Amino acid sequence: MISRLLIANRGEIALRIIRACNELDIESVVVYSQGDAGAPYLELADEAICIGPAPSAQSYLSIPTIISAAEIANVDAVHPGYGFLAENAHFAEVCRANNIEFVGPDEETIRKVGDKAEAKISAKAAGIPVVEGSDGPVESEAEALEVARKAGYPVLIKAVSGGGGRGMRIAHNDISLQANIQTARAEAEIAFGDPSVYIEKYLEDPRHVEIQILADRKGDCIYLGERDCSVQRRHQKVIEEGPSPAVSSADAAKMGRAAVKLCKSVGYHGAGTVEFLYDGKKFYFMELNARIQVEHPVTELICGVDLIKEQIKIAGGATLSHKQTQVRPKGHAIECRINAEDPDNNFAPSPGTVTKCIVPGGPGVRVDSHVCAGYRIPPNYDSMIGKLLVWADTREEAIVRMRRALDEYVIEGVKTNISLHRRILRNAYFVRGEYTTSFLDEMLSA
Ligand code: ADP
Repeated sequence: MISRLLIANRGEIALRIIRACNELDIESVVVYSQGDAGAPYLELADEAICIGPAPSAQSYLSIPTIISAAEIANVDAVHPGYGFLAENAHFAEVCRANNIEFVGPDEETIRKVGDKAEAKISAKAAGIPVVEGSDGPVESEAEALEVARKAGYPVLIKAVSGGGGRGMRIAHNDISLQANIQTARAEAEIAFGDPSVYIEKYLEDPRHVEIQILADRKGDCIYLGERDCSVQRRHQKVIEEGPSPAVSSADAAKMGRAAVKLCKSVGYHGAGTVEFLYDGKKFYFMELNARIQVEHPVTELICGVDLIKEQIKIAGGATLSHKQTQVRPKGHAIECRINAEDPDNNFAPSPGTVTKCIVPGGPGVRVDSHVCAGYRIPPNYDSMIGKLLVWADTREEAIVRMRRALDEYVIEGVKTNISLHRRILRNAYFVRGEYTTSFLDEMLSA
């Protein structure tokens, strides 16, 4: 049982975890950097501890500092949220070495699935289709060329430790592969501290469809429907919805069973997401994210399960609260990521003080955001300042509801991407559900 928990994160996800703790009657201790001092959400936790200067390397990414905070606060568990240390196997290891439960899978599992090339090998071993490409990292240029010619161009050069839509380069022929591979390695070394890359066939116009799973330590594992995250700008998710308008329930169930099989085969426990690419007929494993994801509320709305509470309960030793047959996704949910960025200036981040903030509400609307009028958005972190979600019986009604909610949303003082969401929700292709991962980039360049 967990009775006091440290939240090693900030912003909306820190607030989301505080809320779960308050409902579970668990004391919450939230850390914050000097950049986040005075943020209103900190007051909702039982305790807040300053862990250093605004740059994340000296605060939210500093393992010694966070462990010291956990010891001072005398907590029995740490929730890492997403980003920062969420998929850092060493952090999980240090937590457990200090007798602090890490809300997430074991360090060995995090390591195993965090290496994207190794994760593909695990998926293949579990009989799950993977995108054609190298078996593991490519060691030489000659090997890369051989794999690429066999898979057929275009191919992607992907960083083994990459993520968040970063660390990928496309090559259309031998010459561009040769030209890009060294650059890809150098970039991966700088961005992820690991130069290893692997090669994968680049699927033209796929959809990104992912499965939410929950697994306990006893080895039980369930899937909770799918989310379609194909509305992306430069490979970064902008809108997510569930169920996917393009995947039949039979295919979704196949993906779900494949996800469970993979998670069981790697000894996974906690909440996780198995990401697939879907070409309209077949699905291919892409990666297993060993954390709670930004878009988890889409699943919460359609499945009626509180994923953060489940995560914490599992970390405390509980078995799953639901059996697979009890999970019956209902209705339709859409999430718009609200970013402080300027759509008229190449989506440049727009930090600063929010002068006015009117949050939408009413039936079927959920806003997960730590932002209010007077809140100062620090320049140091990701530009996402909240998530607007709607739920309705059908996709058509959910779209109408999202348009209505977006029209109510007012944020002044900084630029936001709300206007972009309004455009997407009125785009004929989006409305028909006919979109792939290239839809938004094409809409923006048209
Ligand atoms: P994440 O951002 O979740 O870490 P990745 O960085 O692996 O995931 O992939 C991000 C996005 O890149 C995918 O959603 C998809 O749009 C695109 N992508 C990845 N691999 C491929 C591929 N082999 N073919 C086509 N698109 C791909």
